[in-house]
Amino acid sequence: MSQPSPQAEPTLPGRVYLVGAGPGDPGLLTLRGAECLRAADLVLYDGLVNPMLLRHSHASAERTCRAEGPTGRQIRQEEINQRLVEAAREGKTVVRLKGGDPFIFGRGSEEAAALRAAGIPFEVVPGITAATAAAVYTGISLTHRDHASAVAFITGHEDPAKPSSALDYHSLAHFPGTLVFYMGLHRLESIASSLIAAGKPADTPACVVCRATQPVQQTVTGTLGEIHQLAKTAGLHPPSLVIVGDCVQVRDRAHWFEDRPLFGKVIGITRPEDQADDAAHRSFELGALPVMLPMIEIAPPDDWSDVDAMLNRLEEFDWIVWTSANGVRGLLDRLWHNGGDIRRLSRAKLACIGPATAKVLEQYSLRADVIPTEFRAEALAAALAPKVSGQKVLWARASRGRDILPQILTQAGANLEQVVVYQNRDVTSFPEAERIRLERGDLDWIGLSSPSIARSLAKLITPVARQLVGTRTKLASISPVTTAAAAEVGLPIAAEATTYTWEGLFQAMIDAD
Ligand code: SAH
Repeated sequence: MSQPSPQAEPTLPGRVYLVGAGPGDPGLLTLRGAECLRAADLVLYDGLVNPMLLRHSHASAERTCRAEGPTGRQIRQEEINQRLVEAAREGKTVVRLKGGDPFIFGRGSEEAAALRAAGIPFEVVPGITAATAAAVYTGISLTHRDHASAVAFITGHEDPAKPSSALDYHSLAHFPGTLVFYMGLHRLESIASSLIAAGKPADTPACVVCRATQPVQQTVTGTLGEIHQLAKTAGLHPPSLVIVGDCVQVRDRAHWFEDRPLFGKVIGITRPEDQADDAAHRSFELGALPVMLPMIEIAPPDDWSDVDAMLNRLEEFDWIVWTSANGVRGLLDRLWHNGGDIRRLSRAKLACIGPATAKVLEQYSLRADVIPTEFRAEALAAALAPKVSGQKVLWARASRGRDILPQILTQAGANLEQVVVYQNRDVTSFPEAERIRLERGDLDWIGLSSPSIARSLAKLITPVARQLVGTRTKLASISPVTTAAAAEVGLPIAAEATTYTWEGLFQAMIDAD
């Protein structure tokens, strides 16, 4: 690698990474940007940044917004510069995450200059700017060889105090290529009429792209003469880009993003927060926007003393049994934390409830000796029963769960010990932002992936949101057992998966829509 890893650098003195977050799709962050986030002690991110990017970081994160909103407070540029300098002087590794590219209409260079003036070491990581990303995600090549040999990035936002426009509309109207206006939506009418007055033909193709690269992307195309009215009718709002030029015609032939099977749908993902990545990622690939609605929370035990005592005599066990991926992590991470490693398991045989649990075991370079063919506690117990008579068996388990495994194994003559390596708790309410989204009817679907999740949803959902269930917000169930549980608590199911996985849930939504 050409650059040192941020982790390898000393913590003192601190430094700042000005990182381009890309245009919204969380996949459009650079590898360097992700590395910096992983190394950060503090992240300051601006209003355009997709908060999902914070999943690359364990640092505390603060949002800086120019406009005051429900999740951000207004903060002046000088204040941000000051915060960056102060945090770095405290020895922190700071990531300043900015929408798109930090140096394209982003005041990133002012932040860099402030850091330089203060003598703070910094690095700038470029990002994918909104213009190129919006063009690609709408099927437009800004420099299509038949239509444009140049492209101009222009700010449509001008200081209202200025008496006349700083933009040279005459030059822009005669520019031999594509024009892309950032921050121009609120002045679209004046931009279009000024261009036309300066000689740009009113029938030049034009396009407005709102929230580009996000599943909620909206695109309106027309001519320069009519685009203002079309954007207004469609109710487009910032952040939006305006693209003017013949290349806009190519969109009809090359669009792809908006064709995805769940494009534009907003889907509630009910998995625990730390296990939702795969489902969230997959929903993006299918064109949908995932909204995290965890019903269960995974936490370390309040007190590790039982686990530690048991780990001290780990060699006594003939079998170690896991019924969840969290159980594997809970036990093996604690073993590592206490100074041990997997050699301490060399005597034991290992059993897992199913492939997902075994996969996590594999990450620790351990292979399961037993995985039942059906992924249920009964099947695991049945597979183990003939093997464990007279043997010492350890079950690394959650704070709650079914008791069928110890019953059967004890009956089979095993000497079974249980140790709780993680807590599994119902969440008591949805986070505020998600509750508001549910009550506004923003969600098209909620995926229910177990009977307990169906029951939790019935408990957690507010009366306002509940009224929308079945009409505005539909529920998809992962299996007949889950559908039955939902019916018991009065939740109507609109689609049921035929394969009992999240992939099956998404397919059921596609088929039902
Ligand atoms: N540094 C950013 C631009 C900041 S200026 C970049 O490189 O992209 C803010 C403007 O960028 C918005 O007003 C809008 O015009 C544009 N913009 C940013 N993200 C966008 C998105 N996802 N969709 C459409 N326009 C976007």
